[in-house]
Amino acid sequence: MNNLRQLKERFNPRRTYKFGDVTVEVDGVFVRIDEEPFSIDGESVAVSLEDFLQDPAIIRSARVSTGRDTVDVNEKASGMVGALYKDEHVTPFEGGVMFRLKVTAPISVVQPFFQLAGSHNEFSGRYSVIDGPFYVPEFAKRDPEILRIFEEAEAESQALYKKFLGASMAKEQARFALLFRFFTKFYWTISLRHMLEICALEKNKFAPEEFWQTRDNILISIIRDWTPWVYDKFVEHKKIYETKWAEEEPMAELDRPIFDSRVENIGSVQLIKSDIDENLMQLGIHTGPSPKRGFGHCSATFLIECPIFVHRQWVRHRYGSWSELPVDFDEVVNKINFYVPRRFREQVGKTMGYQYQDMADEKNKEQQHQLWGLITKSQHRYLELRKRGLEPQQAALCLPYTFRIKTLWTANVESLMNFFSLRRDSHAQWEVRQFANRIYAWFAVTSPWANKIFLKHINFGSTKAPS
Ligand SMILES: Cc1cc2nc3c(=O)[nH]c(=O)nc-3n(C[C@H](O)[C@H](O)[C@H](O)COP(=O)(O)OP(=O)(O)OC[C@H]3O[C@@H](n4cnc5c(N)ncnc54)[C@H](O)[C@@H]3O)c2cc1C
Repeated sequence: MNNLRQLKERFNPRRTYKFGDVTVEVDGVFVRIDEEPFSIDGESVAVSLEDFLQDPAIIRSARVSTGRDTVDVNEKASGMVGALYKDEHVTPFEGGVMFRLKVTAPISVVQPFFQLAGSHNEFSGRYSVIDGPFYVPEFAKRDPEILRIFEEAEAESQALYKKFLGASMAKEQARFALLFRFFTKFYWTISLRHMLEICALEKNKFAPEEFWQTRDNILISIIRDWTPWVYDKFVEHKKIYETKWAEEEPMAELDRPIFDSRVENIGSVQLIKSDIDENLMQLGIHTGPSPKRGFGHCSATFLIECPIFVHRQWVRHRYGSWSELPVDFDEVVNKINFYVPRRFREQVGKTMGYQYQDMADEKNKEQQHQLWGLITKSQHRYLELRKRGLEPQQAALCLPYTFRIKTLWTANVESLMNFFSLRRDSHAQWEVRQFANRIYAWFAVTSPWANKIFLKHINFGSTKAPS
């Protein structure tokens, strides 16, 4: 199957892919500008280039290295795709084809997608009301008692969410009443190269089963339908990027925090290590076009414990390394490791121009009481589900969206500055701002020289530098 006509036959640009409760729509694909008409075996063919240029785009990206810039799709071309794939000559797959996907899926399933390469734009529970029914997994549908518990949990959660909104509570806080299985949607722009990498990852226990099912049933089908030659080579030169070894390695204890600091009643940050060296950064900044890169030579690692919704904002800062430590949901429930704000906020104004004001004492107490009520009931439900044989991750689907998780974050100073700019700013949610302020306080003392430059020239999140 290696000439253009056959490629055209195999090309099957389906728009919508569904598996279980996950929907992925192919919203857009990077296409090259049309030039000369194609010819097959010397015969001019009237086919739309956009229809099937996905494989040829890779070929063109690769051929430029030998001084040719051609899109000829001939017998040699599919062989070339194979050679590139086999020998890990990966950038043509990265620059040649880009998918823009619209993913609709339960929050518990999508979380790993945000650890993967690409650009994400997600529906915001800060700016919009999250409506619609929650995800009900297959294992719950199969057992009437478990289903009843799931349904009860959903009814209570939805009712409290509405109540909170009715009390003018900020949407960003009202969502704490939602369960860890509401549906979210996001656009994900990802190159074919990165999609191939994900599809070749060895399955492991660190991501939920639904994540792997989505990958195996949807992402691989998109590769098959939109880039048939690449799919052939993916199957022919099967690669497995091993991951299982991590399951076998012992889980280390972290015992060397430099500072260990509570962040209000929200969570904590520990500085695990840092290599801030002003001399090195001073050497590095004399470079162009972006002198900021010089700050990238020094970094710090933090162990963070924060509510899930804070983490999901923070993890969007891709320039760095994230490791979500496995959540011990039994411990979360036993230790009641949930965040309930000391002060709820009311939201006034329009999207992108909200003002927040603290709730009055009595009203605030009432909301706290309500949220604690939901947490307590969720605890009982969790234990009941565990007794009925569910795994912690399965029972956790009935926990409210305010449990805490632990993560390791390593970021260089350039990335820290970006984080401070965006997350110390008044537009950021108050809770994530407290973490940014705490880490910033350490940074300002540790590197006064870099901080001076940051405040004067780099901080762009605000018209005026935060004090
Ligand atoms: C107030 C506020 C509201 C927000 N609201 C929403 C929302 O409603 N929906 C939503 O989805 N997100 C929202 N975000 C998240 C936002 O869109 C960014 O994803 C997040 O702030 C991370 O910023 P960043 O991309 O600059 O950081 P990083 O990902 O750390 O990037 C920093 C720099 O590194 C480079 N870089 C690193 N990795 C890549 C890569 N893979 N590709 C390209 N460049 C890279 C870029 O040069 C970039 O400037 C919001 C953020 C803020 C602060």
